[in-house]
Amino acid sequence: MTDGARVATRPGVRPPREAATHCPYCALQCGMVLREAGERIEVAPRDFPTNRGGLCQKGWTAADLLDHPDRLTTPLLRDRPGGDLRPASWDEALDRVTAGLRAVQERHGRDAVAVFGGGGLTNEKAYALGKFARVALRTRHIDYNGRWCMSSAAAAGMRAFGLDRGLPFPLADLGRADTLLLVGANPAETMPPLMRHLADQRERGRRLIVVDPRLTATARQADLHLQPLPGTDLAVANALLHIALTEGWLDRAYVADRTTGFDEVRRTVAGCWPAEVERLSGVPVADLEATARALATVDRAIILTARGAEQHAKGVDTVTAFINLALALGLPGRPGSGYGCLTGQGNGQGGREHGQKADQLPGYRRIDDPAAREHVAAVWGVDPAALPGPGVPAYQLLDSLGTAHGPRALLVFGSNPVVSAPRAARVESRLRDLDLLVVADLLRSETAELADVVLPVAQWAEEDGTMTNLEGRVLRRRALREPPPGVRTDLAVLAGLAARLDAPGAFPTDPAAVFAELRRASAGGPADYAGVSWDRIDADTGVFWPCPDEDGPDTPRLFADRFPTPDGRARFRAVTHRPAAEPVCADYPLHFTTGRVLAQYQSGAQTRRIAALHRAAPGGFVELHPDLAGRLGVADGEEVRVVSRRGELRAPARLSPAIRPDTVFAPFHWPGAARANSVTNDAVDPVSGMPEFKICAVRVEKA
Ligand code: SF4
Repeated sequence: MTDGARVATRPGVRPPREAATHCPYCALQCGMVLREAGERIEVAPRDFPTNRGGLCQKGWTAADLLDHPDRLTTPLLRDRPGGDLRPASWDEALDRVTAGLRAVQERHGRDAVAVFGGGGLTNEKAYALGKFARVALRTRHIDYNGRWCMSSAAAAGMRAFGLDRGLPFPLADLGRADTLLLVGANPAETMPPLMRHLADQRERGRRLIVVDPRLTATARQADLHLQPLPGTDLAVANALLHIALTEGWLDRAYVADRTTGFDEVRRTVAGCWPAEVERLSGVPVADLEATARALATVDRAIILTARGAEQHAKGVDTVTAFINLALALGLPGRPGSGYGCLTGQGNGQGGREHGQKADQLPGYRRIDDPAAREHVAAVWGVDPAALPGPGVPAYQLLDSLGTAHGPRALLVFGSNPVVSAPRAARVESRLRDLDLLVVADLLRSETAELADVVLPVAQWAEEDGTMTNLEGRVLRRRALREPPPGVRTDLAVLAGLAARLDAPGAFPTDPAAVFAELRRASAGGPADYAGVSWDRIDADTGVFWPCPDEDGPDTPRLFADRFPTPDGRARFRAVTHRPAAEPVCADYPLHFTTGRVLAQYQSGAQTRRIAALHRAAPGGFVELHPDLAGRLGVADGEEVRVVSRRGELRAPARLSPAIRPDTVFAPFHWPGAARANSVTNDAVDPVSGMPEFKICAVRVEKA
């Protein structure tokens, strides 16, 4: 039996002592250089088009985790429910996983095993994980935590443009925009080097407008801050289009020549009176008018959405409303203009292009498309009929675990749903109900703590690969050194399991070989990487997909002449405001919203362990307006309970006039009593499956 030996670099190539690579965290993928300096590894910023020589605190300290004492260097096994995890050999661990998977599938069928991936995995790992699920396990159940990041914008982009690429233009275009509208985005805290592009814009005297229920670090830099009630962005967008329509600011030639479906949108927004939207959202009519004018009466304008607008049970329609506005003003396809979405996770873009999503095959192909199945099956060397059909979105998958009709075994790669999933206590309970939970991670995350088998895997500086950043630019991640003894790459883990499961086809452990296969599998698909080679990436600052031909151009800017729809036109779609899934009431009279802080990343499993980041952001908190705190009799720093119908969190109050008096905020990076997702709502968008992280009804009490 072959395990797939640990391979962190290309065969025969000794890992360099200095590596020009990218930060392991967010989708900005800042360029950095790693250097071995005696026992230490130094991080230095590297000039790259996205970060222009900047890094945030998270990037500067990323190497602190490489030799962290919490690092896992041996597999762990739990011998009986409730027992402790104990060290084990790789053979014992992989045998246990294989036997468990076989037993579950023999008893309950192939779909009784599920796979849950992550938006931080490289393209090669995301591709291999999707292939492993469909070919080795032959289960339809695979999805990933990127579902909670980008899926609403992705679905809206597909619906309108026929393609989903976060930014359809290079990030540098932000600096060229005369007006930039940021909706539910706080890059000053989530990806600070991006603000350098906004500084370009400001230096030219251009306007920045921010839509956010909180006066965030980004909103403080804006010329105009709209502070709507959470969950009313869609109404705000429709009001902006109503004003543009009334004032005659539409680009009629663009609408006529490049789009379809505007008449229905015109009828819908005609009834979105700004005064009514002011009553609903709290945004003054004058600010709505100023925003519409600032977007419509300049040469170049860009509208960007992020999680604040997207993480709602109507996230797809909310993004659609802003796309409608952009199309009506004739923005997409012009340099320095357009609509885009700011991706969150490091490989949130690439992670959803190559097969981790329940309904997709590599190259952003649909798994229910017979031609797509045939193409990918040929690359994988299997019968198309043997490929499973589509699975279900992430929350639906997790919520079904261990139930009568749900999977009984789960493999988790690069994700920590115990902290990051909505209604997290319920998800935690579902995970406990499984017959077998396997977690591949570099640390004992909160999800790993529940596992029957934990597999220690390599970190970003220990393996080569590619990532696709928020611009759709494919980048090279370069290894500085090999993983420590006892640690394997995710590719090696998948290869070892595939061999034990007698899977057909090949599961290479060399990321270069996996990428070569990914190129063939994606060829001809919407996200076509066929012309993207590692050498080509190395020769420049990355390659923008689609890039079908190695000798042909890549595509930094999309939609210049046509949209990738059957008729080449973008599609308007009429959308209307609807209330949040859980309205406030006498028992739960406040709105609750979640987000991030500068010094922590996602579930915090990595950044919470870095001393400098822990000092900067040591724990959760509940932000509330001083007026609200006064009514509740709560002092700054006093512990409070935030209670919803699903659970509660406890954390110190942080009083701030930056938030609306009817809304409270908590960051979601911490587990335990401060876990914000104990409170959040698991209502999901019917199109994207995005949970409603950004609004639910709560009450706040002194603890
Ligand atoms: S976390 Fe994001 S913004 Fe910060 S250094 Fe890393 S890639 Fe750049």
